[in-house]
Amino acid sequence: MPNPPTDNIFIITPDAQINMLLDRVLKALGYTTDVFQDWTSANFQIKTNPPGLVILGEKLKDATGLDIAKELSIQTPATPILLLVAQESPEILKQAMRLGISQYLLLPLRVEDILSAVQDSLAQAKRRKEWTILQVKRATTSLERKVNELETLTRLGHSITSSLNSDSVLSTIIEAAVELTDSEEGSLMLIDEKTGELYIRAARNFSEEFVRTFRIPIQDTLAGNVISSGEPTVLDEKAPKKIKTSYLVHSLIYVPLKLKDQVIGVLGVDNRTTKMPFKEHDVKLLTALAEYVVIALENIRLFDSANQDRNKLETILKNIQDGVIVIDDNHQLLFTNQVVLTAFQLPNEPLQGRPIEEVFNLAELLALVNASIPSLYNRVELSTPDGRIFNAQITAISGIGQAITMHDITHLKKLDRIKSEFVNTVSHDLRSPLTAILGYAELIEKAGPINILQRDFIRRVQNSVQNITGLVNDLLNLGRIEAGLDTHREPVYLNQLVEYSTDNFRKLLEDRKIRLVVFPLDNIPPIYANPLQMRQLLDNLIDNAAKYTPPGGTIGIRAEVQQTQVILQIRDTGIGIPSAELPFIFDKFFRASNVDKAAIGTGLGLSIVKSIVEAHQGRIWVDSKIGEGTTFTVVFPIAEIP
Ligand code: ADP
Repeated sequence: MPNPPTDNIFIITPDAQINMLLDRVLKALGYTTDVFQDWTSANFQIKTNPPGLVILGEKLKDATGLDIAKELSIQTPATPILLLVAQESPEILKQAMRLGISQYLLLPLRVEDILSAVQDSLAQAKRRKEWTILQVKRATTSLERKVNELETLTRLGHSITSSLNSDSVLSTIIEAAVELTDSEEGSLMLIDEKTGELYIRAARNFSEEFVRTFRIPIQDTLAGNVISSGEPTVLDEKAPKKIKTSYLVHSLIYVPLKLKDQVIGVLGVDNRTTKMPFKEHDVKLLTALAEYVVIALENIRLFDSANQDRNKLETILKNIQDGVIVIDDNHQLLFTNQVVLTAFQLPNEPLQGRPIEEVFNLAELLALVNASIPSLYNRVELSTPDGRIFNAQITAISGIGQAITMHDITHLKKLDRIKSEFVNTVSHDLRSPLTAILGYAELIEKAGPINILQRDFIRRVQNSVQNITGLVNDLLNLGRIEAGLDTHREPVYLNQLVEYSTDNFRKLLEDRKIRLVVFPLDNIPPIYANPLQMRQLLDNLIDNAAKYTPPGGTIGIRAEVQQTQVILQIRDTGIGIPSAELPFIFDKFFRASNVDKAAIGTGLGLSIVKSIVEAHQGRIWVDSKIGEGTTFTVVFPIAEIP
């Protein structure tokens, strides 16, 4: 029955009488109407208030009925049109049909004809509308479902990449599998590599007890078939099967979990009570989810193995006997082990992220870290607050920062001190008898006539005693420097010292045909030092260069200033030092294996040099290549005259 306002009817004919008739009849039937004699005014109204039906005259003064029908089919395509025709012309009717005009009314009008035509047209339009709504609804539901699936899949993808909690990621995927396929239960079965059985790694809606105790062999089971074939399996009502899990399902999907070419398990959903079969689309969804499961499992495996490696390394670093401090490029602590905490008497609390300067209040350590030329200062001795002495070394680690390793040398230091004290005492006690021997050797000649052979023997005794005296003097010297007794310091200019020292060697070098090249040293600022010790240092290094350089070679002396330090280098083109022996070169009494045993020397020269350097807060190191030459580099801080 009429249902305004949808069923508002527009009457558009040029004939006032027809209009009136239609208007009266329709109103009597309960419809509302709008009457127009021309298209222009009707058109205006249509735009603001579209009608439920249009009754159209064949010819109006401003347009034909067919023209108007065409226009209406664009503007309001769902509105049915009734065409009034004077006679049934096949041509007009053909055109009318083409334009989608639902009915026509033949003039003269009869009330029953009007009634049935209007009702038919409206009923047909209503059915069409309902059908359209239904279709739209269907399409929307399926779209909504798809959007929902997509959202779930995106959410899952996100949770797989962002979470490394294996249980929660796998549970989320199973939940999604159950939800998206509208199923009752879901399970993820993996192959236990040890037993070859299948166990449930994650499940939804299965009892906990069932999940815990579930174990089935792969052979002859439905899941086993999926694993061996690598293809999904679908069961429905037509083929119910008591699957080897001791429960009967109405429908089920199992899809394989494939990692590379290997099947590692099965993802499944099933219905035990509802008889709803699964669709092809569900298999596709589950296959997509199976890929997520594999990615998640692989992520977890990689993370676990990286974590294990990291833990292993961390445990090693934590437990080794050496101290380890790792800092990043901004000097913030990344790692410190227990040895470090104990040595610096630090509380056992996390230090990660704190600046090294804030945690460690030890100038030598900070100088090591802050050294602008790391290679010059990559090793230092640290006296830590717990009374120990460490040999600390810094190493740059690209991509991370720097690592400081600290080796405990307390006992070595102690031994060294005891040894030095002993040597000092012995040397001291040796001096008087040596002087006596020398004195009496001289007196022998004066005491009476001696033959040539006896004179030769006396010379040999004197030479040997002088050698021993030299050694004793060296030892005493070393002892004094090591004890730090000589604390006298003054500004010392290297150019003057080098001049005095080289003057001494000039004759010797000339005899040995060794060229000496001293680069200009006038612009080198003074260092704050003990001039006698500095002189001894230069003498020892130049003496060595002269001793171990064959005739025809060259000795070069140069110095330069870098920031707040003077770098002095003494280079020769001599025999060099075997690289394996370089670490021992500054040890007392050490002489390299390539030295001619007849060459005069005590093996103490470089120990004295090292002690002098250390007493002046300097550094010394050696670069040498066997057969090519040796360079000693000494670094001193520029004098800050107090
Ligand atoms: P020595 O009295 O033997 O010269 P040093 O302590 O001065 O003792 O030097 C220790 C050892 O270092 C030497 O025996 C030699 O093997 C090696 N050495 C020192 N300087 C040089 C050099 N310039 N060239 C080659 N070898 C050197």
